[in-house]
Amino acid sequence: MIVEKRFCLDLTQDDIKEWCSTRGVESYRASQIYKWLSSGVTVTDEMTNVSKKVRAMLEEDFIFDGFKVLEKYVSKIDGTTKFVYLLHDGNIIESVVMRYKTGLAVCISSQAGCKMGCEFCASAKAGFGRSLSSGELLAQVLISQKIMGEKIRSVVVMGIGEPFDNYENIVNFIDRITDPEGPGMGARHITISTCGLVPKIREFASLKSQVNLAVSLHAPNDAIRTGIMPIARAYCMEELLDACREYTKVTGRRITFEYSLFKGINDRRQDADELASRLKGMLCHVNLIAANEFPGSDFHRPDRRSVNDFKQYLESKGVNVTLRREMGTDIMAACGQLRRGIEEGTE
Ligand code: SF4
Repeated sequence: MIVEKRFCLDLTQDDIKEWCSTRGVESYRASQIYKWLSSGVTVTDEMTNVSKKVRAMLEEDFIFDGFKVLEKYVSKIDGTTKFVYLLHDGNIIESVVMRYKTGLAVCISSQAGCKMGCEFCASAKAGFGRSLSSGELLAQVLISQKIMGEKIRSVVVMGIGEPFDNYENIVNFIDRITDPEGPGMGARHITISTCGLVPKIREFASLKSQVNLAVSLHAPNDAIRTGIMPIARAYCMEELLDACREYTKVTGRRITFEYSLFKGINDRRQDADELASRLKGMLCHVNLIAANEFPGSDFHRPDRRSVNDFKQYLESKGVNVTLRREMGTDIMAACGQLRRGIEEGTE
């Protein structure tokens, strides 16, 4: 029987303890190895206090160096840094590190590609490879933190992929990154963004975690939503909003609704009006985004004035609104753009 090697960052502290015991390695090595992995070291040569013999054994049993930085782009405008990684099986993923007043935040991918098929999304056009393991989710945070030489304060799972289509690994990732003996990030510094997989929102609510939930709404009604997001055919808006109400009730956490404005599709006054009445009374806030345009897309961004009008109208109806600041526009930092460029050989 061929046993597939596991990626080193998929190992929990317990896995490493067990490995040490079955391989006859001194037990104190387990915490040394776990510390190295938790600091983003995925090359055994860098584990300087671990003997050469144990390093060789680790390499025999697990995948090291399975997460290579293929490209790194730094925005000249705002320092936003985009990493493109090559995984051990040839899949390519990307993460983006942004600087805010509160420190660094990283936006990570949950899958190589995406099955959800949102019409406005560059990632959807690139097809689906596979879901990422919890270690590969963690690697995006720890490796970018190591390269940036500065602590990552928050994580948003809002890159390529649908996190709740990779539910188990996402939950494991949250456990791993919040481990006080490991990276020790606070749950409130993590945001999971879903396009609206209703049963998984309910399942996630039942965990009662303090993780932030963002839901990609992008429309005020089913007619518009089904036209741009295939998931809306499986779960209507009322079902989705009910699950969101449950999430806020169970966790006490405010929910974020992501709303990309597409010119002539969902950016009219009547859309703002309908959105405001649907969200009335909910513990939520709306994050408006002027659409990301990419070559070949039929979706266009409204002008600045229309975006501001939409925002002000929602505010006049008592909705909490923010306008998402665009970052890294010169390095194609919008969802999926860069990976697609590389795969098509345009970079
Ligand atoms: S917007 Fe998100 S969920 Fe939709 S296709 Fe793109 S990556 Fe997938």
